[in-house]
Amino acid sequence: MSFRVGGARLALMGESNRRFILRSRPDRRITPETFELVEEAIPEIETGEALVRTQWISLDPTNRTWINETPTYLPPVAIGEVMRSVGLGQVVASKHDAYREGQLVAGLTGWQEWAVASDAAPFRPVAEVPAVSPSVHLGVLGITGLTAWVGIKAIGRPQPGETVVVSAAAGAVGSVAGQIAKINGARVVGIAGGGAKCALLTERLGFDAAVDHKASDWHDQLVAATPNGVDVDFENVGGEIMDAVFGRLNLRARVALCGLISTYNDPDPPPGPRSFTNLLIQRVLMQGFIVIDHLARMPEAIGELAGWMREGKLEQLETVLEGFEQLPTAINMLFDGANTGKLVLRVAD
Ligand code: NDP
Repeated sequence: MSFRVGGARLALMGESNRRFILRSRPDRRITPETFELVEEAIPEIETGEALVRTQWISLDPTNRTWINETPTYLPPVAIGEVMRSVGLGQVVASKHDAYREGQLVAGLTGWQEWAVASDAAPFRPVAEVPAVSPSVHLGVLGITGLTAWVGIKAIGRPQPGETVVVSAAAGAVGSVAGQIAKINGARVVGIAGGGAKCALLTERLGFDAAVDHKASDWHDQLVAATPNGVDVDFENVGGEIMDAVFGRLNLRARVALCGLISTYNDPDPPPGPRSFTNLLIQRVLMQGFIVIDHLARMPEAIGELAGWMREGKLEQLETVLEGFEQLPTAINMLFDGANTGKLVLRVAD
């Protein structure tokens, strides 16, 4: 099979749609038994649908939470269903007025080489950014950027001179959240695993200090890095790290509760933070948030983030993988700290 896109004939990768199907629910880490790779026919589209060739797949910690039996903010992926994920692709055929051939679109592609867009499964058209990889639409100019933007601008709201602590700071959301806080005039402290990630935060992204949570003295490092306490905690990790930051929260501090990655592979999450009393004493405001509630603010957020990128104030960090068949092992990289910035997998050009 082949399609004509923008005047060029596009040869399909074989004649099939490779997909990862959920076969079992892991108790802890994702294992080789969790997914099965199957090959099916490329979907035939009907009126009201468009065929999307997946080019990039976003790997996100929340993917792990979607395959538990317990519903989260989305229903669990069912056994036998294709693994859900955000991705980016090109429309290669359309029988829907909102999509045209050749268009770049972002949406829930899932772990498959071909996806179908429709009113029930809408995709968001995105523009190519000159000299920037299209994967930026999964990172700074996508859901990742919106998450960081909402957490800092709508919830953390740091004032100039205030201290913001970001955990998983060298990751996708954390690296953007820290940079936005810097742009807003805050003193920014990142927590990350290892000396190289900490050096990247301070030397390349302009963080004021970094704490290496793998070092035995990480707690002392946190105290030294926050001499005036903490006014905003952008929380990505949970567990011991969150507990230590909670212990340093100032009067009327804000906690933007974005994620708890340290608990996602754990069927018995640790008991609540020991430093919880400090939230009471300091009249702290903590707000959990889920980015999909804020999609209406996407144009505003992306406009601002793109402007900062153009001005050289905001940098996109990413770790790019190749090879569709790597997806089930790639997802575990997030839990091993093997990524820097946004973890994406290139499926096709
Ligand atoms: P990242 O790119 O930050 O990757 C995950 C990072 O977390 C790893 O690189 C690792 O960094 C760190 N990490 C993993 N396990 C642990 C652990 N046990 N202790 C300490 N650090 C750990 O992922 P994202 O930026 O995509 O996501 C970051 C957080 O934001 C996640 O909790 C995610 O669920 C959440 N999120 C929430 C959204 C929302 O709507 N609320 C939307 C998107 C993301 P290191 O090497 O530094 O340890």
